[in-house]
Amino acid sequence: MSNSELKHMQTLLPEWVETSRQQALHGKVASYIPELAKSPKDALGIHIVGAEGQVASAGDCGISFTMQSISKVFTLILALMDNGEEAVFAKVGMEPTGDSFNSMLKLELVQPGIPFNPLINAGAIAISSLIAGSSREEKSARVLDFFRNLSGNRALDYDNDVYLSEAKTANLNRSMAYFLKDKQVLQGEVEEVLDVYFRHCSISVTCADLARMALVMAHNGTDPVTGAELIPRRYVQIAKTFMITCGMYNASGEFAIQVGLPAKSGVSGGILAIVPGRYGIGVVGPSLHRKGNSIAGVHLLETLSRTFDLSLF
Ligand code: GLN
Repeated sequence: MSNSELKHMQTLLPEWVETSRQQALHGKVASYIPELAKSPKDALGIHIVGAEGQVASAGDCGISFTMQSISKVFTLILALMDNGEEAVFAKVGMEPTGDSFNSMLKLELVQPGIPFNPLINAGAIAISSLIAGSSREEKSARVLDFFRNLSGNRALDYDNDVYLSEAKTANLNRSMAYFLKDKQVLQGEVEEVLDVYFRHCSISVTCADLARMALVMAHNGTDPVTGAELIPRRYVQIAKTFMITCGMYNASGEFAIQVGLPAKSGVSGGILAIVPGRYGIGVVGPSLHRKGNSIAGVHLLETLSRTFDLSLF
């Protein structure tokens, strides 16, 4: 079934990519991290992988881009594997904010200093402080190794230019991290935690890498291609739920209605989406809607989901 469905998708995707690509005109490439401003605005690519490794892909799949906020899903999972649920949820909440990803607005609201969820910047920075390791180097090496296992791509690495560019300009993230330190939410040394965070945001991937990572999640933590058990099922369940409620920032409700799949976007224009039990999907389209999601990428996923009735709802 999924083989013939993927073949069917393959016949439709090239034309859909060209239609959705037009949307890029209405968005903007992120520039608050100066290095990201160099991204190709009109690029759009999609890669879909099934359980036996069969693929459908179209558009600019060859381009590399940094994971940015997509990485937050996997650092959350690693923090859960390192510390367990109770310890993680003592430091971050489980609720969407309805605010933009880098907002500080609600940090003081409910329990003082506890970020609403692990997929907004404040929450993800708190999560970075929970990654096990005796130094920033060891923590970052563990993150990279985990991402390499999930993607099946041992060559996965940082984009050093993007890393340095973010580290230099991250005044807002820095201010959140110091706030979290003051509230004793953030463990350890602030600049070390930020370094782990900037590094995981700057891991460079292609759509195929994202699709493979999504495929592992689509199969509850087991890589269906190799049989390797990479993530406990419970943690995939937690991560997928956050992706539905918070994965597309303050556009998560609309995305759940229009696409209906667990997904996570990043300001580089990447989107990772999961079709549970079936496919992993990676998309890139650097031109962003004002809420920070790839404008053409979301358009393409809407067409795909509607045509193949992929929504979970
Ligand atoms: N590294 C980016 C930041 O901290 C990630 C944000 C994003 O992708 N939305 O601002």
